[in-house]
Amino acid sequence: MKLFIGNGLIVDPLRSYVASGSLMIEDGIITEVLFDGEEKEADFLIDARGKWIVPGLIDLHVHLREPGFEYKEDIDSGCAAAAKGGYTTICCMPNTSPVIDTPDTVSDIDKRAREGNGVQLLCIGAITKDQAGNEMADYKGMVSAQTVFTGMTGRGICGISEDGKTVMDEKVMIEAMNEAKKLRLTVFSHAEPEADIVRRDLKLVEQTGCRLHFCHISKKESIELIREAKKSGLPVTAETAPHYFTLDDSLVNGDPNKKMNPPLRTKEDVKAVAEALKDGTIDIIATDHAPHHERDKKLPFEDAANGVTGLDTSFQVSYTMLVKTGILTPIELIYKMSTKPAEILGIDRGSLLAGKAADIAVIDVEKQYEINPSDFLSKGKNSAFIGMNVFGETEYTIINGNIVWGGTENDRQIDEKN
Ligand SMILES: [Zn+2]
Repeated sequence: MKLFIGNGLIVDPLRSYVASGSLMIEDGIITEVLFDGEEKEADFLIDARGKWIVPGLIDLHVHLREPGFEYKEDIDSGCAAAAKGGYTTICCMPNTSPVIDTPDTVSDIDKRAREGNGVQLLCIGAITKDQAGNEMADYKGMVSAQTVFTGMTGRGICGISEDGKTVMDEKVMIEAMNEAKKLRLTVFSHAEPEADIVRRDLKLVEQTGCRLHFCHISKKESIELIREAKKSGLPVTAETAPHYFTLDDSLVNGDPNKKMNPPLRTKEDVKAVAEALKDGTIDIIATDHAPHHERDKKLPFEDAANGVTGLDTSFQVSYTMLVKTGILTPIELIYKMSTKPAEILGIDRGSLLAGKAADIAVIDVEKQYEINPSDFLSKGKNSAFIGMNVFGETEYTIINGNIVWGGTENDRQIDEKN
């Protein structure tokens, strides 16, 4: 199967170029990158004039709710929302039921995802058994589970996290970090209260030498701590999510769709997050996609569940708030949504060079529309951005050379046959 994506704007952070060009894809691999405007013969042609061609987006932080909470989201609906959002690889957090803390749970999720639309789903295992905060989960077992990630890196899980909770017992955290270091696993830290736990975890990184990634950073104070830690060479990375550089706490007004953990912060914090994205203190943008059913959200603010959806809207909000405003260049945005997440995971993705796996999104950044949850493929309609005017629509998402979003049903079936 030969696929030709013609004459779009290729944004490739790895080579730092933004240039009009085309890609030829054969048997799942990018075989040629062409800049001469020529149209080549192929089994399937995508006219990308006026569109961006970018390496498929990679999200290090999603909650797919399966197993256990399929009424909120399941692997199929979550992966459908991911493909529509331009995502080709996503990492799911372990706060499911059962918790992802054994090789069997990892294998079950991996199997379910492989039967799905093609989005590469990687598992993040729990730090402690049943996320109870006491006893280390079976990291070795989870690392040796055979998953789609094993095919990329030789390991079954892409990291460990207690997301949704913080490991409060420092001794347990040290033990976990020492073990993670031995297994070359990244620890994803859910830091709440944010600045206090960021401070503690930085100290533990210094002590253990373990690689640590801070989830959903939202506060100026924690950003300053991370900036200093990076200067001194600690192996840490950090993410934020679109709501933390778009919305501040004055906009909450008791709206449960603006309730998440960590909560929306002050205007000063929002500004600090944008600056940290620009100067690289915050390495990447993740979604913290946290879908909920209406019955958990349509409640008085105090009783409503924490979390907002993200996969359907993340690129659009980020592009509108960061690139349209001139805060980030197109290269910097795609770096933070694809190239750098790939580097953190240690996978050979996040670039459009010849020879790479054809994980690609074709995005119409001129397309303007209003965010409406009834357009979402996620089961969760709990967006913090309802009614926001944004730019950017994913025209095609391609994974290993197969069209998983865009075109007609028939185009996607043709692909499956090949
Ligand atoms: Zn989360």
